[in-house]
Amino acid sequence: MPIEKTDKSGLIAQRVMERITKNGLQPNPETFAVLYVHYSGLHPDITNRIDKIDAAREKLTNPICDELFNTYLSDKGEKTFIEEASKRVQAMADEVSTILRDAGMAQKEYNDTLMKQSDTLAGSNDLTEMKKMVAGLVKDTRKMIDENRKLEEKLDQSSAELQQMRQDMQNLRVEALTDTLTGIPNRKAFDAELKSRAADALNRGKPLSVIMIDIDYFKIFNDTFGHQVGDQVLRLVAKTIADSLRSTELLARYGGEEFVIIASQTKLREAEKVAERIRQKIATKDIINQSKNEKLGRLSVSLGVAQLEPGEPLLQLIERADRALYKAKAAGRNNVVCIEYDPKLHAGHGDIVIDVNR
Ligand code: GH3
Ligand code: MG
Ligand code: MG
Repeated sequence: MPIEKTDKSGLIAQRVMERITKNGLQPNPETFAVLYVHYSGLHPDITNRIDKIDAAREKLTNPICDELFNTYLSDKGEKTFIEEASKRVQAMADEVSTILRDAGMAQKEYNDTLMKQSDTLAGSNDLTEMKKMVAGLVKDTRKMIDENRKLEEKLDQSSAELQQMRQDMQNLRVEALTDTLTGIPNRKAFDAELKSRAADALNRGKPLSVIMIDIDYFKIFNDTFGHQVGDQVLRLVAKTIADSLRSTELLARYGGEEFVIIASQTKLREAEKVAERIRQKIATKDIINQSKNEKLGRLSVSLGVAQLEPGEPLLQLIERADRALYKAKAAGRNNVVCIEYDPKLHAGHGDIVIDVNR
């Protein structure tokens, strides 16, 4: 019944709003969608993750909601493309099979003619008759060659179309993992890269660190110079950082005016040096509005650094880097802060836990 449905969605929306208020979340569309799906039980993976967070009495944050959204809810475009691509392949397969069937029929017809002509030739000694038959054979053979050429052309065409489709899929994959404003990997790419690089670090017994970067007072910059200039500056910051990276480091746009670096084979203190270099590079760069040849002053970034503790959940690593970033802000901004892994803070992840009540 529609009324019941409305009541139910109203109830879910109410629970979503309560949760947003309780956790002090920004009510953006991603967060709303994730919580709505959670409370309506539409996606078991999302519900599982949020239930685990609740059970551990951890706080649900906007970055977690963003991550859930990107992982489970934002692949509509890809799905549509894959559905379309599979329809195209189906249509092509149908066409090729029709061509082959027609070609098979033509071939059979040609065979029959050959057999018939050969029988007649064997029992005949009339030269004129023979000439007529040979002329007929030549005509049929030409027709057959022609049919085969057409078949080849059609098959070539289908294969070119398949090639194009493969390219389209590859482009779509790259597009889905690239941030449109800055051209660097996006949040979705970061999530996937972190997972695979962390697994690799664990397997090979190598260190891995992450650096969270947030532009200082960017809201004021936007308010002063406008959003478009702000966008240009985001591109400039992305490029400045990207240009300074080593091959083991990957930069992604984490969201808004935040960036993140995955530094493979890098310990905390080395990552701190990387972060410090970036901080200095940004802080000493003059921002110039090229179209007006006007100096807009300078910007700074704050950076938080954390190293992966073998076996710890990745969300915990991000949360630690986030905490370091928050400290860098609190210490006055234009700062780098590292936070060491503290086993006492994360009891239950391979730590020694002493039960004082025994
Ligand atoms: P803080 O030093 O504490 O980080 O201050 P802040 O002003 O940078 O932080 P806050 O989170 O208050 O504001 C972030 C601003 O970043 C708000 C928004 O206008 C701006 N921003 C986020 N994404 C974009 C974007 O894609 N383009 C532009 N131009 N601005 C953006
Ligand atoms: Mg920010
Ligand atoms: Mg900021």
